[in-house]
Amino acid sequence: MEVKEEIKDKTSLNFIEEIIEQDLKSGKCKSIITRFPPEPNGYLHIGHAKSICLNFGLAKKYGGRTNLRFDDTNPVKEDTEYVDSIKEDIKWLGFQWAEEHYASDYFEQLYQWACELIRKGLAYVDDQSLEQIRENRGTVQTPGKNSPYRDRSVEENLDLFTRMRNGEFEDGSKTLRAKIDMAHPNMHMRDPIMYRIIHTSHHRTGNTWPIYPMYDYAHGESDSIENITHSICTLEFDIHRPLYDWFIAQLGIFPSHQYEFARLNLNYTVMSKRKLLQLVKENHVSGWDDPRMPTICGFRRRGYTPESIRNFCEDIGVAKRDNTIDYTRLENALRDDLNKKAQRVMVVLNPVKLIIDNYPENETDMLDAINNPEDESAGTRKVSFSNTLYIEREDFMENPPKKYFRMSIGQEVRLRYAYIVRCVGVDKNENGEITAVHCTYDPQTRGGNTPDGRKIKGTIHWVDAKNHCSVEVRLFDRLFKTEAPDKTEEGQTFLDNLNSDSLKILHDCKAEKFLADTKPLDKYQFERMGYFSTDYDSTAEHIVMNRACTLKDSWTKK
Ligand code: ATP
Ligand code: MG
Repeated sequence: MEVKEEIKDKTSLNFIEEIIEQDLKSGKCKSIITRFPPEPNGYLHIGHAKSICLNFGLAKKYGGRTNLRFDDTNPVKEDTEYVDSIKEDIKWLGFQWAEEHYASDYFEQLYQWACELIRKGLAYVDDQSLEQIRENRGTVQTPGKNSPYRDRSVEENLDLFTRMRNGEFEDGSKTLRAKIDMAHPNMHMRDPIMYRIIHTSHHRTGNTWPIYPMYDYAHGESDSIENITHSICTLEFDIHRPLYDWFIAQLGIFPSHQYEFARLNLNYTVMSKRKLLQLVKENHVSGWDDPRMPTICGFRRRGYTPESIRNFCEDIGVAKRDNTIDYTRLENALRDDLNKKAQRVMVVLNPVKLIIDNYPENETDMLDAINNPEDESAGTRKVSFSNTLYIEREDFMENPPKKYFRMSIGQEVRLRYAYIVRCVGVDKNENGEITAVHCTYDPQTRGGNTPDGRKIKGTIHWVDAKNHCSVEVRLFDRLFKTEAPDKTEEGQTFLDNLNSDSLKILHDCKAEKFLADTKPLDKYQFERMGYFSTDYDSTAEHIVMNRACTLKDSWTKK
């Protein structure tokens, strides 16, 4: 699959900014009001983050306001659990809405406006079933057929609509439709449904309403109620725009306008709430906030910062045509941010003992280590050192290839912040497995210096075996093994593209004592191993860390 990337000149305006600047200049609007309109039927994902950054970002840039409006017009799938999580995620991203609204708060107004459209002869109650309505809509090539109920009198329509509201009819037995044109070239204009009957309790209005407005009717009218000047949505809604404008024009209410931009797609990711819900419900992941999920709460738990997500959304720009963004760009945004901020520590993920034969048995030294080379104000810390350390098993090779600069017998290597050591041998068990590596150290090289200027090419990290804490480390890989998980072979679903190796747990990693007080969401760079964040499961007795990303992109090469 081709990955197209937007090339963006940072100083130029995106097309929505151009529109806004014109509107402000021409006096079409004095200040702008945008809105973010999630349906509370799932947790927010990274695509929503793009929409949030755009809507809130524009209002901020132009001194306007942004409302949060829950588009809760479908009682069947909505829940307050989702409302709460959405608010938490927006705040965490660093945005504060001006007003909090619910489309359901507008049900009475929307109902009154529907009655007004009926009185104007612009809406009617249809007794056709949903299947019949679909059949009679026609196709793009052929016009639809008028409903036999299309010419009911205003009085009859008002009577029937009132009785729909009073709950006299069964689900699906009637709808209210706008009376536009069954031969309209735009299928959405062929007498679209405005209301359907659903006898289901709503998370806010309870059993007050047995009828619920459709998105196309509720959305534009809600925008208009709130005086939204720029209603920004994703491209698939451009075909709905004529209908959005039609309702507003017929009612003569505040003229909100809709603008469409390309939705964010990321490779190796699915982004529909329905599919994310399925991953959760069928236990393919541990929950909405599983660190492999593309949800905002998943990224948070994984170790992403709000800044990294905002920078990513800014960096990818605002496109007019659909494209797919490379996941690596998201990871790079995190690396850039954590490189500046993250506390450095040494942690050995796959430990083997390193014994320093000529270091005094009972001595412990405290060495200076730099907390963050990118931030001098972060200062230094003390790291304990003794004759028994842990190093990464992969940092020793018995039969090293050329240009292997880490530990091998006879070769010198630098222990980060400590000494130059020379490997002298190994201990093995009866199965031939290495149980310890032996070396000698050069006391002249404390702090890692080489006073005689000799060249040491390799530097490895280590942890004092006599003074450390044990850590459980969770390593993640892409949740899907294919770039476009939604593209499937005949008879398969996106689930067949799941990567079965996306989670690896290392139960006994060795960390500097420094990590003993870590709290959930604390961020670190484990030297040479990546950026890590403390998991919610972590306690003082059992520390659990998530790898947010590796230090460099190791995926593109694969
Ligand atoms: P999904 O298709 O994932 O279920 P949705 O569009 O149904 O998402 P809503 O809650 O209706 O979810 O979306 C709220 C807002 O977020 C809408 O304005 C929508 O256009 C925007 N949005 C949703 N997905 C994306 C995306 N991938 N990129 C940019 N904006 C998005
Ligand atoms: Mg939606």
